Amino acid sequence: MAKKTRKFQDRTRVTTLGRDPHANFGVVNPPVYHASTILYPSYEALKNNDYPATPYGRMGTPGTLALEEAIGELDGAYGTRLAPSGQAAISAALLAVLKPGDQLLMVDSVYQPVRMFADTVLKRFGIEITYFDPTIGAGIADVMNDNVAAIFAESPGSLTFEMMDIPVMAEIAHARGALFLFDNTWGTPLHFKAFEHGADISVHALTKYVGGHADSLMGAISYTKAIVPRVEKTYRGLGLCIGPDDAYLMLRGLRTMAVRLKQHEAAGLEISKWLQGRDEVARVLNPALPDDPGHAIWARDFSGSNGLFGLELKEGTETQLAAFCDTLELFAMGFSWGGYESLIVPSDLVGARVATKDLPKGPLFRIHVGLEDPQDLIADLERGFAAFNAAK
Ligand SMILES: *Cc1c(COP(=O)(O)O)cnc(C)c1O
Repeated sequence: MAKKTRKFQDRTRVTTLGRDPHANFGVVNPPVYHASTILYPSYEALKNNDYPATPYGRMGTPGTLALEEAIGELDGAYGTRLAPSGQAAISAALLAVLKPGDQLLMVDSVYQPVRMFADTVLKRFGIEITYFDPTIGAGIADVMNDNVAAIFAESPGSLTFEMMDIPVMAEIAHARGALFLFDNTWGTPLHFKAFEHGADISVHALTKYVGGHADSLMGAISYTKAIVPRVEKTYRGLGLCIGPDDAYLMLRGLRTMAVRLKQHEAAGLEISKWLQGRDEVARVLNPALPDDPGHAIWARDFSGSNGLFGLELKEGTETQLAAFCDTLELFAMGFSWGGYESLIVPSDLVGARVATKDLPKGPLFRIHVGLEDPQDLIADLERGFAAFNAAK
């Protein structure tokens, strides 16, 4: 196994974690092994469970184990398991900690497919789900029932980017004997240390900034020591595992993640500020902006932002919104984010919120600022707004 590298800064660690070149003929990157069956050298070795790395491909191969170790160390977790998507990591984490009759408190701005999973599958297994306003803070105590088992939070929230007071909520959860689960996809382990802020389980979609190239899906479930038995049994029982080629892509993405994030952050902030100066814009939803309502919490808990934020316009007809989006050349329309390319999608909150008091009222978009030159991106948005205004 690779050497522990906690003494180094994160920007160094992303280049070193999970690597052990001299165990692999000096080759710099961990190898890709395609394996389901792994052979034992003898009857005796099989009887003694004496295998080189794992007994079966589903339990990992050298490349997938290298990635698991790298992500776990970066997360600051006791252990990590990898799932075929961020969504799979989240549903497995929830199944690991809940039982029939439990109350699950879920932030209202949760990633929409997680809400769907809670409202269908978890409900069917007799779990009581209570959504809460992302800015509830210490008020979370008031919506807890005696059967509360876990809080699931995501900050900033999906689409609406509200910041949550995570340490306060984690503390209240623990005082009531409940667990605190956190979706750290936006923060990434580089910009938010979930376990230092009270998380028992941190999940994140590597699909976004770890992969970084719009070509691979994966999720991580990282956990503290106390959670090990529950996560392990659920993860293994569900048969979750990842493919060796995806692990290779994620390890490759990880090596450049710190420099990419810095650029996404700088360009994201530059374009956010430019958008704030436009007449058409009601609000830019980005906690890294000094006048954002969540800025103080973000500045206290996070060490950086990225290229993903919300854009609320004052008004606009469907024809104008279509003219805006269809004129953009560099901001393409498509889901997911975290790749090198810029994206824009209209955000539909209809039916997606039940507990949030303050919701954007104008047309809302989610923007991902990629690695293109910000000058070109601004010129692209200028052309988009010209078309928007001409379509009036
Ligand atoms: C994308 C995303 C996920 C899901 O990740 P997939 O790999 O696409 O399944 C979960 N949470 C958040 C906040 C996300 O943005």
